[in-house]
Parts: sequence; structure tokens; C-alpha cells
Amino acid sequence: MLDPLDPPALHQPLIISAALTGSWPTKEQNPNLPVTEEEIAEAAVEAAAAGAAIVHLHVRNEHGKVTCDPARYAKARDLIRAAGCDVIINMSTGGGAGQTTDEQRAEPVTLAPEIASFDCGSLNFGAGVFVNSPTFLTKLAASMREYRVRPEIECFEPGHVANGLRFIQDAAIDPPYWFQMVLGVRGGAPGTIQQLVHMVQMLPPGALWSACGIGRAQLPLGVAAMTMGGHVRTGLEDNLWYHKGELAQSNAQLVARLVRIAGEIGRPVASPAQAREILGISPLV
Ligand code: ZN
Repeated sequence: MLDPLDPPALHQPLIISAALTGSWPTKEQNPNLPVTEEEIAEAAVEAAAAGAAIVHLHVRNEHGKVTCDPARYAKARDLIRAAGCDVIINMSTGGGAGQTTDEQRAEPVTLAPEIASFDCGSLNFGAGVFVNSPTFLTKLAASMREYRVRPEIECFEPGHVANGLRFIQDAAIDPPYWFQMVLGVRGGAPGTIQQLVHMVQMLPPGALWSACGIGRAQLPLGVAAMTMGGHVRTGLEDNLWYHKGELAQSNAQLVARLVRIAGEIGRPVASPAQAREILGISPLV
């Protein structure tokens, strides 16, 4: 019989994602941000060594601006694999919230990454608007199915969870369902535990989820997710700081902190191979 005070999810290996670069952060804000493909690959290998099972990638052009260029994504991926690193690679289709066209955003999916982001609705995003129209999302879901890519259903507010449930209901997305609750974006749901609990409660039984808090919400939401039986994302994309007033030295440093906390609360940390199994992703050949 299930013990409600000791649910199996609390013993499930914790999948840590490291979001290494993002679309917006700059080296001026934190010189440790990886920007070139070489830096991104190096940061991925370090984050994996520290305990990340997934690296979430964005790439930048020669001016440091966000791009969806598949050649750059492929280069970063190939450098990670050439280093002998088996971390799961998740490519962003976000395209910097209005900086790229829908067609460009979908291009990384043609590289058949193991995971790609599926931003499940529109919202104000900082000073701009992040548009994810139903037409775009429908095409993106079909393309992810064609290339056998696991969608990471990114939800910035509760309406996005409801939208994700519609795609599931329409059988446009295959199980297991993998949600990423991104909280604390200016324009989205605030980065509070109440919001996280609310959004997680909307999920169907068996859905897998991870939490990603922006800025100062990163660590509290990560710890909350771990203790709720969810998974967690960290990294310089979401937060440039280690403590208030102290810049993070690397993505790996942020991952290592989560690994220590997971150890203290008794969550084992998933290897990339274990995470592939949990997420229904084929083993790396
Ligand atoms: Zn991202």
C-alpha cells in the first residue's frame, strides 16, 4: 500500500538540468557565461561531471546574439560528444522571444536532439512579448514527433499547463510527458512555491515535471521541487548569481550545490542513462 507520507517519487532519482547560456545573459553581466560553441561544450561537460543529466542549450552568433542556427547547435553537440560526455542534450526552440522567426525556431528539431523545448503558450517576457501561437505549436509538435524528439513542455504560467494538457488530450504529444515549470519570468507566473504547487496539481497522473526558478527564485524553487518529488533545472540562463552579490563561477558550481542538497534530503541524483530511462529516451549508441 502506498504510504502518503513517503511517496515513491521522493526516492526517484533526481534529474538535474543545467541551462547553460540562454538567449539574453551577457558576459558583461557574468564573465563566466559560456557563449561560443567551445565554451558551451566545456560548460556542458563540467556540468555533467558535477551531476547534471541534461544540458539545455542555446547558441549565439559571432556578435553574441541569440540564433537558432542548426550548424552552431550541431557543433556544440558534436564537441560535447567528442569529449566523451553522455549528457542528454536539450536544444532550445525559444529563439530569444521575438528575435527569430517561427521557421528558424523550429530548425534545431531537424537535428533530432533528444529533447527540445516546447514553449506551451504566449506571454509578456521582460520588455517584449513571447509569441507561441497555436499554429506554431501544432507544427512544432508534429516535427518533434517526426524526429523523435521528447518535447520539454515549458510552462510559464498555469494557462500554459492547460494548453499542454490540450496537446496531450489531442494525442499530439507522446508519453511520458515532461513538463518544465518556468517561474519568475517578468510577465509570467511569479516564482513562488504556491504557484509551483498549483501548476503541478494540474498535471495528469504519471506526468514528469521539473521546476526552474528565475533569478532569486532559482534555489528555493529547486529545493521545493526536490522535496515534492519533482526534478530541477539550474544554470546561468536562469540566474547569474550564487548568492546575493556574488556571481556564480560556473554552471557546474550551481549544479554541485543541488547535488549536495539532494544528498542531504535523500534524493539520489540521476545519471544521464537513468534519466533517459525515466524520460523514455533511447539509450545513447
Ligand atoms: Zn532556454
